[in-house]
Amino acid sequence: MSKFFQGYQINKTETGQSCELKQLSTDDLMAGDVTIKVEYSTLNYKDGLALTGKSPVVRKFPLTPGIDFAGTVVSSEHAEFESGDTVVLNGFGVGEVHSGGYAQMARVNGDWLVKLPSEIDTRQAMAIGTAGYTAMLCVMALEQHNIKPDAGNILVTGASGGVGSVAVAILNKLGYSVVATTGRMAEKDYLLSLGASDVIERSEFSAKARPLYKELWAGAIDVAGGNTLANVLSQMKYGSAVSACGLAESMDLPASVAPFILRGITLYGIDSVMVSIEKRQQAWSRLAQDLDRDLLERLSFDLNFNDLPQAASDILDGKIRGRAIVKIPA
Ligand code: NDP
Repeated sequence: MSKFFQGYQINKTETGQSCELKQLSTDDLMAGDVTIKVEYSTLNYKDGLALTGKSPVVRKFPLTPGIDFAGTVVSSEHAEFESGDTVVLNGFGVGEVHSGGYAQMARVNGDWLVKLPSEIDTRQAMAIGTAGYTAMLCVMALEQHNIKPDAGNILVTGASGGVGSVAVAILNKLGYSVVATTGRMAEKDYLLSLGASDVIERSEFSAKARPLYKELWAGAIDVAGGNTLANVLSQMKYGSAVSACGLAESMDLPASVAPFILRGITLYGIDSVMVSIEKRQQAWSRLAQDLDRDLLERLSFDLNFNDLPQAASDILDGKIRGRAIVKIPA
């Protein structure tokens, strides 16, 4: 293993932060008991915030961004891993306070790693990425609520984005009827091809929510927060549930308690960053089983490692469709 490798590095500056692609050395690797040759990473909304510095996602400097990666173990002092294992990492502060996936090498705590199921290779793992694995956590929460496919339509907001696209594909494979919302009606055919039975304009969810609306949805997955989530809550069927994982519209939730106390609905908060390793393993093995590979290919695209800074702005502007796969140069 050479001492030197390529990677992005974020440094603190007087005006904020700078990000450059440069030669790093093994001295730049952070503490950990497993060293990985990173093969693929991806671009998540949080990576967009980290790379642009629009939000204080990076809290330790210097740091290699990239909140997730998949690769092959090069060396390990951790009992669970050995050289040659293919692994995936999502969250645990990687790309925020511990150097992450936008480099040829990474060193992390083995307790944060999941061995990839044999059905998923490192490229597919990053086609899924943190967005797709979060989508699976959202679906698992609806299943835990015992929502069956015959209960009615499931609503997915922000459906053209990463979490939304994978959520539509998984729900479709599981036999649910999925209604997708999007601000990009030009993506209607794409969403229908992933398995949505109907596509509606996200503007229908943008105004201030009434406490209660007609009961429409047997379940919902929301990536937006804000008025969107408040409107979704007011439209849920009696006893139904919503998985909320994102803030693409807003961190606020200007909602009424009416749907909770009059319709007995449940709001599940979904966190992918610190969730237990057991739940991660469960989510990844469910992804191996319940995500159609052809749909995964259709909802993902290749993004050049050198183009990450521009793509970071694009994802924050809602211009990225589906999931970006970033091949780390060998
Ligand atoms: P993307 O940017 O890929 O997708 C977000 C989508 O939200 C956009 O594509 C757009 O879809 C929709 N959207 C954008 N702006 C608005 C708006 N103002 N109002 C309503 N909808 C909007 O991001 P990801 O899918 O990767 O992540 C989605 C959200 O989930 C983010 O907020 C992210 O931070 C969060 N997240 C949380 C995780 C957790 O652990 N809780 C893990 C992963 C992600 P369209 O154009 O179709 O309307």
